[in-house]
Amino acid sequence: MTNPSDNLLAGENIHITKMSIEIEPLFTIIGEVVVYLAAFLLILAIVGSFLIGYSFKTEKFIFPGFMLFSITLLETLVKALFRFIKMDDSIVDNVGITLKNKISLRKFRDTPINERLIFFPQCLRALTCPSKLSSEGMQCISCGACEIGRAKKTAEMLGYKVYIVPGSSFIRRLVLKHKPSAILGVGCMTEIKAGLEMCEKIQLFGVGMVLEKAGCVSTVLDWDKFYKFIEMEN
Ligand code: SF4
Repeated sequence: MTNPSDNLLAGENIHITKMSIEIEPLFTIIGEVVVYLAAFLLILAIVGSFLIGYSFKTEKFIFPGFMLFSITLLETLVKALFRFIKMDDSIVDNVGITLKNKISLRKFRDTPINERLIFFPQCLRALTCPSKLSSEGMQCISCGACEIGRAKKTAEMLGYKVYIVPGSSFIRRLVLKHKPSAILGVGCMTEIKAGLEMCEKIQLFGVGMVLEKAGCVSTVLDWDKFYKFIEMEN
């Protein structure tokens, strides 16, 4: 005679088998979606990388919106592709900064000059710099040992407010205190990238000027480019 509990178990087994038959196609579908999505993102990253490389070489920026999308959302993948073909992945940051600068520049120009701040990094000073640190950054006394003194005076005569800062936390604090409408930041690629991201978050028109030679001390800026920029954007 069959035990009723055996029937119950057999029924449960059938139910579980049916469920696993139903779940299997679901897993297959999910797996396929993931593969297609990964392939789609890879294609986007390849196209984005090609455009970035082309723009860097020719200085012609085609499909800037798409490039910015691939730099912002697919940065890791795009940089990995650059490294894969033995290209310098800092090109991605370089093109990203150039694009963001281009977008901000029109708004920067429309901003009254007295609402613009300029930030120099302290590493641009001479090693013998006698300036002292205050809550407003390093206090340059225009000793003549580096170009900052002259650049600061020129920019201030045009109406800019100029600060020499030891780090990005200083910039954030001074921006909150002085509430500018636009800023021009000088710094290494990493600082400029972070600075432009900060500007996007707080809806400030930010333009970045990358140092010719980065480092902790004795960094180098293309001063001709700097003077040309502040006089042109006057
Ligand atoms: S010019 Fe200003 S920033 Fe440059 S070394 Fe002299 S005090 Fe320092």
